[in-house]
Amino acid sequence: MKIIDIINDAASRGTTRFTFELLPPLKGEGTAGVFEAIDTLAPLDPAYINVTFHREDTRYTERPDGLLERHTVRHRPGTVGISAAIARRYGIETVPHIICGGQSLYDIEDALIDMNLLGMHNVLALRGDARKGETRFDPHPQGHSYAEGLVAQIADMNRGKYVDNDGDNGHGGYKGPAHKTNFCVGVAGYPEKHAESPNPEADIKALRRKVDAGADYIVTQMSFDNDRILDFIARARTAGITVPIVPGIKPLAVKAHLTVLPHTFHVDLPPDLVHEVERCRDNAEVRRVGIEWATQQAAGLKKAGLPVIHFYSMGRTDNIAQIVKQVF
Ligand code: FAD
Repeated sequence: MKIIDIINDAASRGTTRFTFELLPPLKGEGTAGVFEAIDTLAPLDPAYINVTFHREDTRYTERPDGLLERHTVRHRPGTVGISAAIARRYGIETVPHIICGGQSLYDIEDALIDMNLLGMHNVLALRGDARKGETRFDPHPQGHSYAEGLVAQIADMNRGKYVDNDGDNGHGGYKGPAHKTNFCVGVAGYPEKHAESPNPEADIKALRRKVDAGADYIVTQMSFDNDRILDFIARARTAGITVPIVPGIKPLAVKAHLTVLPHTFHVDLPPDLVHEVERCRDNAEVRRVGIEWATQQAAGLKKAGLPVIHFYSMGRTDNIAQIVKQVF
C-alpha cells in the first residue's frame, strides 16, 4: 500500500497512527537486532516503518610497499534488503530511504529498479549530508545537487522515463515500451529550518520545489517543540504546500543528547526539557524524562488532528512502545 493512502486513510477516519524509523544493520551484523526492535512495536500496529540510508565513508589501509590505499566503505549497507525482509516477515509497509550523496543517477536508478522488482513502491527521497570530514555537500559528478532532482528522477520513472531514454530503451537491450514504476515519494521538511538554508522562507520555497517535482508527502526533522512543528505546517500551507506533513519526534534517552542532538540535527531543545534533564542523576532518569516529554508531544500532535506521527528510534524502541501505549 502507498504511504499517501495510509496517511489519507487515517485522516479520513479521524485517527492518528504512529510510524518509526530504523537503521539497517552494521556490515557483518545479521537481522536479529532490527527484528528485535520491531518485535517490541509490531503488536502496537505501526502504520509503516522507515529504514535509513547511510552514505559511503573513506578508509585508508597500508599496502606492503608502505603506500596508503584509499577504500570507499559503507558501514550500514542493505537498506533495500532489510526493508524487503521486514515487509516479508511482518507484513508491514516499509519505506527505504534513498539519498543523492555519493551516487550517480545510474546508481540511484538501479536501486529504484531493485525496489520496484521487489514490489516496494514507497521511498523517502533525500539529498544526504556532506561526506564525513567534509564541510559541505559535494554532489556526485553525475548525480543530483538537491533532493528536488531525485524526486524528479523518481517522478520520471513513474512516467516510464529512465536516465538514458525518453520512453523506450534504446541501448541494445529491452526494446519495448518502458515500464512505469509506481513510487510514492516522501521528502524531508525542517520545522526549525535546514542548517544550510539562509532563512525559513527560503527553506519553505525549497520544500515547495520538492513537492512541485512530485513529492506526495513530507516527514519532518525531529523537533522537541510542538509550537514550532505546528507553525511550520501553517507556514507550509501558506506557501501553497497542500500534501500531508508527518511530524517527527524523538524521545531523549541519554544526557549527552543535550549537546549531540542540537549539533547533529540543528534543533533547539526547549529550556524546560533541558532543565528537567540536567536534574537527572543518571540516564535511566533521562530516559524517563524523554518518554514523558515525547508522550506530551505525541498527545498534543494527536489532539491537533495530525493523522500520522513519526518516531526517531535510532534502533531502540522500548521507550517508543511506552509512549505509543499511552497515546495511540
Ligand atoms: P534538500 O531538500 O536538497 O535541501 C538541502 C538544502 O538545500 C536546504 O538548505 C534547502 O533549503 C536547500 N535547497 C533545496 N533545494 C534547493 C534548490 N533547488 N536551490 C537552492 N537551495 C535548495 N540523511 C541520510 O544520509 N540518510 C537518511 O536516511 C536520512 N533520513 C532522513 C529522514 C528525515 C525525515 C530527515 C528530515 C532527514 C534525513 N536525513 C537523512 C538527513 C538529510 O539527508 C539532511 O538533512 C540533508 O542535509 C538534507 O537533505 P534534504 O533531502 O532535506 O535536502
